[in-house]
Amino acid sequence: MRKRQLLHCAGMMVSLALIPGVVSPAPAHAAAKLKIVTATTDLADLASEVGGDRVEVESIARGYQDPHFVEAKPSFLLKLRRAELLIIVGLQLEIGWLPPLIAQCGNPAIQVGAKGYLDASQFAEILEIPTTVVTRAMGDVHPFGNPHYWLDPENGRRIARGIVNKLAEMQPGDSAYFEERFQAFSKRLDEAEKVWDQEMKPFRGRKVVTYHRSWPNFLKRFGLISAGEIEPRPGIPPSPGHTVELIQMMKRENVKVILVEPYFDLKTPDSIARETGAQVVVLLPSVGGEKEVTDYFRLFDYDIGLLTRAFKATQ
Ligand SMILES: [Zn+2]
Repeated sequence: MRKRQLLHCAGMMVSLALIPGVVSPAPAHAAAKLKIVTATTDLADLASEVGGDRVEVESIARGYQDPHFVEAKPSFLLKLRRAELLIIVGLQLEIGWLPPLIAQCGNPAIQVGAKGYLDASQFAEILEIPTTVVTRAMGDVHPFGNPHYWLDPENGRRIARGIVNKLAEMQPGDSAYFEERFQAFSKRLDEAEKVWDQEMKPFRGRKVVTYHRSWPNFLKRFGLISAGEIEPRPGIPPSPGHTVELIQMMKRENVKVILVEPYFDLKTPDSIARETGAQVVVLLPSVGGEKEVTDYFRLFDYDIGLLTRAFKATQ
């Protein structure tokens, strides 16, 4: 769709240029396309939503990868070297792989603190900010609060707003265009949220167990309750003792749905499901987690579709 629109636009520009006396703005805009690199696909999609054809956006991580643990490749350096704006999730989500790439890419424009470095976490509502000192040495990969905050559409809107402000700062000539695109995005999101709320309404108050703590913003937004996690701490693999306790708790509290991100082994979730009669649902935390999940709207469509089916089946 987006490609088709671009082709269509290009066609229009050519035809305008052919009319004598009409100076096509095409070359100026083509040259001014801001090169954006994002850490994750969700940020890439939000940046494309508001940036439209005035930006070029690429994500480093793929939507089916665990964003905490992305294997660095030389091609990432190339992307970063060319970037004018880098947008990250922050809260140390990318600390295991992105900082060395930023340091090595030799691009001063996107270094920490530079104009072309944008940490999207500053715009979002962040949950689970620790009240005691938590460090990565303890194995916990969420030391500054939960970094999976994009899974609440309201945070999606806030991130998009923050990106628009940055784009307008970097490319002031296009600020009205970015603002218009933000308004259109926000309106579409409003409409989609009404549908999602309606679909989830019958299941408010239902309890789930999740593999990793990827879902606090999502669960809060849709009135669901997290009863526990398969990981003893975020980033720590399942242990037999913790799994036994989890099974007992699920039986006691009648928890019938287990959410698993697509990059985790299903062995432990499946064995817990056998013990408790629960259903395992592979829920996607990111755009691109499956082929059909091509944007931020389809991500919620997909997840809410799977969840409501699982809740109905286990009622
Ligand atoms: Zn995490």
